[in-house]
Amino acid sequence: MSRAYNFCAGPAALPTDVLEQARQEMLDYQGMGLSIMEMSHRDKVFVEIAEKAEQDLRSLMGISDDYAVLFLQGGASTQFAMVPMNLLGEGETADYINTGQWSKKAIKEAGRYGNINVAASSEDTNFSTVPPQDSWQLSANPAYVHYCPNETIGGLEYSFVPDVGDTPLVADMSSTILSRPIDVNRFGVIYAGAQKNIGPAGLTLVIIRKDLLGKAGAHVPAMLNYQTHADNGSMFNTPPTFSWYLAGLVFQWLKKQGGVANMAETNQRKAEKLYGFIDNSGFYSNPVEKISRSWMNVPFVLADANLDKQFLSEADQAGLLNLKGHRSVGGMRASIYNAVPEAAVDTLIAFMADFEKRNG
Ligand SMILES: *Cc1c(COP(=O)(O)O)cnc(C)c1O
Repeated sequence: MSRAYNFCAGPAALPTDVLEQARQEMLDYQGMGLSIMEMSHRDKVFVEIAEKAEQDLRSLMGISDDYAVLFLQGGASTQFAMVPMNLLGEGETADYINTGQWSKKAIKEAGRYGNINVAASSEDTNFSTVPPQDSWQLSANPAYVHYCPNETIGGLEYSFVPDVGDTPLVADMSSTILSRPIDVNRFGVIYAGAQKNIGPAGLTLVIIRKDLLGKAGAHVPAMLNYQTHADNGSMFNTPPTFSWYLAGLVFQWLKKQGGVANMAETNQRKAEKLYGFIDNSGFYSNPVEKISRSWMNVPFVLADANLDKQFLSEADQAGLLNLKGHRSVGGMRASIYNAVPEAAVDTLIAFMADFEKRNG
């Protein structure tokens, strides 16, 4: 068996240890004679798995009892609608910050449900900067402020948590959750599709302050109402049981690695190595302002775009997979989430240096 280094933006690399444990437990979960995928979500064995996953996540992130943790489906894209459906009342305004492709999608979707004020945007710098908070034009009394702490496509990450006073702060953390410690108490809602830094696709995490539950109008479908899922332990209907189980294994793995504080150290070191190499080369470049560079998604371009195809095919052959940039921006992107080991970054840098020597 050989496992390549996988730089995919999502669905992304998972820890090999986790996949091995899942393989061992696959056919016969703890002597029950069946797999996790084949058992009822109401079975007490599964309920224990589900509860442990939640407890481990709470301890990793320091989530207090003031927050509900929901294990949902529909991806972060469904949250683009659920957030306004649940939090934006009749006649109210919500503020959004536009820092890239995912912000734009969230803004577009929210516009279907009420008044949206784009309080700041860095579109005029082609999303290479985060608008400083003192430039934000927040509305008088917004229902919430929404932002995307890490723009997966552009590789732009906020170096700060916005201060919006008593207004609920809503964050799409799909590609940065669990990459570093954060103070959950600063947020009203945190949501994340699992397939970047949590587990397999099909699971969406929502962490919501309990006083924000129960605000959805009567027309909101039960499945799209946070209250429904909070009241039913995320088992109002059949949850994505296998993804939930696997996310739980990832949480256990993270705890073994020393938790998110340790991950943050490794992640920062990985990112600094790669950006440092790019900045020192005359052949590769990254357009994002230094303070706002993502630890998780590192886009870069070659001096000559005609070499892109050759770069990608040679990288593939060297066991460095999925380095193609998002179709909307081109170039390359190395996603270096928690499960991508530091050795993968070292190997990538060595490959890039060699490619530059031969073609630069
Ligand atoms: C991947 C991603 C999404 C979309 O997630 P889905 O689960 O595919 O809906 C939204 N926001 C961010 C920041 C992402 O990285």
